[in-house]
Amino acid sequence: MRMFIGGNWVDKDEKIDVHNPFDGSVIDTVPRGDAQDVAAAITSAQRGSEIMRSMPAYERYEILHKASELMTERLEELGRTVSSEEGKIISEGLGEAARAQETITLSAEEAKRLYGETLPLDAASNGAGKFGLTLRVPCGVVAAITPFNFPLNLVCHKVGPALAAGNAVVVKPATDTPLSALLLTQIMLDAGVPPEAIQCVTGSGSVIGDAVSGDARVRKISFTGSRDVGEHICQVAGLKKVTMELGSNAPLIVLPDADLEKVATATAATGFANAGQVCISAQRVLVDQEVYGDFIDTLKPKVEALSTGNQLEESVGMGPMIREADAVRVNEWIHEAVDGGATLVTGGDRVGTMHAPTVVADVDPQMKISSQEVFGPAVALTRFDTVEEAITMANDTNYGLSAGVFTQNVDWALKFAQEVHSGNININWGPQWRADLMPYGGFKDSGMGKEGPKYAVEEMTELKTVIFH
Ligand code: NAP
Ligand code: MG
Repeated sequence: MRMFIGGNWVDKDEKIDVHNPFDGSVIDTVPRGDAQDVAAAITSAQRGSEIMRSMPAYERYEILHKASELMTERLEELGRTVSSEEGKIISEGLGEAARAQETITLSAEEAKRLYGETLPLDAASNGAGKFGLTLRVPCGVVAAITPFNFPLNLVCHKVGPALAAGNAVVVKPATDTPLSALLLTQIMLDAGVPPEAIQCVTGSGSVIGDAVSGDARVRKISFTGSRDVGEHICQVAGLKKVTMELGSNAPLIVLPDADLEKVATATAATGFANAGQVCISAQRVLVDQEVYGDFIDTLKPKVEALSTGNQLEESVGMGPMIREADAVRVNEWIHEAVDGGATLVTGGDRVGTMHAPTVVADVDPQMKISSQEVFGPAVALTRFDTVEEAITMANDTNYGLSAGVFTQNVDWALKFAQEVHSGNININWGPQWRADLMPYGGFKDSGMGKEGPKYAVEEMTELKTVIFH
């Protein structure tokens, strides 16, 4: 495919291969964009932002609504593209396409809700005779830098709200998975988005990233990706608004009154979906020592029942990881833990990009498999004695994106909700759950700001205060 800059589909002599991570086959190529391409995209987007700023909200709603209809017509193609380039099983690829369509629908609706408020200025000691109001206005040019693991829906979570709010958007998709973003760009254009208002530049983040983040004409950066890249972008960004949706090593806590059957089902579902490559994957499973042994016995067969293989075959339960180097890293962390005294319950093997679903028990929280973001199909079990200790362990991390607790005790559930420092708290489910309309975002090194179209629109607009004297 080609990239979209300045109202044109642009090609380059230098290409980047896009692989199917299952067998390494080349499914397509995209141009290798450079810093000049980024600059041209931002120049065009500036014009686009003027067009969008003066477009009536109802028209922005209609365009996004049309885009959601076009996505519905092309769900199968979108889902297959996601699975082919990313490696997630086809049911997850189709599921992502359906969610992405919903994200755009939600964004269309938000285009109609850019409210301001009146200000009771006469209530101020110096305000007699004054009248004030706020106007919510677009930022201008929004840059959207996105990760590989949800190559369509996470692009929609930026493009939808950016356009709904009356901005132009420059998308820099992950190099491993640019095809879904380019398809989305085509759909947006087909729906009537002015060609200057959306740009999609392909190319390596380490080469062109600073040209995006450092450009003063970009007013807002919305980034989803790893902690370290996020921190780098913040340093380069300077005076800009930023939203950072970063990584985590999400805990799932099993209190002694939990229904172990349900917990095991949730652990298998929330630890291994997309081969564990989800920012809110269950990674650190903290289990009360009273039920620890029984829980391992319940969990083991459920994880062993996950068949691995070609993600496009419907019978397969888990596909490959995105890159062999990541599978190697996950495997090293598992074996480092086992060499350090942890117990391998199941899994542990790797062939190419395919890593077996793995459970490691008796993990010391200092081990990498617990203390760093594993972002692969492995969960680490550690036991605790008291609820207080479980909460301390859950919080003993630089991350804070999502957490889950299983208990029937309402006091424990509330204590957990109040005391765990995390952007999302799940009572009686694992940490991996999201409805696209809800506010979603992390604490601590998991970032700042919220997504979910209503909240992203707030972050992609500015409040103007108007005073009548
Ligand atoms: P990544 O390596 O940080 O890359 C994310 C994006 O940043 C890619 O488009 C990448 O481009 C680009 N990039 C790389 N270096 C850059 C630079 N110097 N300047 C600007 N952009 C740069 O993340 P990933 O491996 O794709 O995704 C996995 C990570 O995303 C995990 O940490 C996961 O937890 C996190 N994540 C968070 C959320 C959330 O909502 N909080 C959701 C999903 C994923 P290239 O691909 O060209 O390198
Ligand atoms: Mg990466």
